[in-house]
Amino acid sequence: MKTVYLAFGSNLGDRTENIMFAVCSLKEKEIELLDISNLYESEPYGVVDQPAFLNCVGKFRYYGTPESLLDITMEVEKKLYRKRERRWGPRTIDIDILLFGTTGYKSDRLTIPHYDMKNRSFVLIPLLEIAPNILEPGTGIPYREYLKDMSGNDLKLAKSSEAFLKELKITCTVSPLKGGYYG
Ligand code: ATP
Ligand code: MG
Ligand code: MG
Repeated sequence: MKTVYLAFGSNLGDRTENIMFAVCSLKEKEIELLDISNLYESEPYGVVDQPAFLNCVGKFRYYGTPESLLDITMEVEKKLYRKRERRWGPRTIDIDILLFGTTGYKSDRLTIPHYDMKNRSFVLIPLLEIAPNILEPGTGIPYREYLKDMSGNDLKLAKSSEAFLKELKITCTVSPLKGGYYG
């Protein structure tokens, strides 16, 4: 069993619903949610002329390999009709694997820890909410050290984790989630 941390980002359509749909879809694949951060609104990173993002980080339990996890997260992105029409452009959902257990992993299509996570307040702030003492694999540096030079003023609290979980409970159990949202 591995504890994994995933970062979610959405800036198209109903952003909360997209993230909820993603979490429910992961559950169907035995990727069990253990904890989730608050949801934050952030200004776009990189390409700025696009809608604001909703971001959060979830802690999950997973029994498979990093590669199979990426297969599943990409499948869920596809289910949400994520299109790559424009590089770095708007998206219904982005699911990035931040951490997988306590060690790093590298292949031609996967780098863990995520290569840029320590430079992104919209990743570090939610991550540290649910894992305040988490260490960077390899270096052993606490991720909270990386946050010291960032203000976090660029983030706006959009929804509490409690409110999100309450809605999730209804969405995940009552709604059949058979591709009905966008299909
Ligand atoms: P960024 O990675 O800078 O946040 P992005 O999330 O928009 O940008 P994507 O188009 O979602 O980028 O992913 C591009 C590729 O990154 C994927 O095809 C995947 O193979 C690769 N990748 C490498 N490491 C990771 C990781 N830790 N989590 C998710 N994808 C990864
Ligand atoms: Mg990303
Ligand atoms: Mg991505």
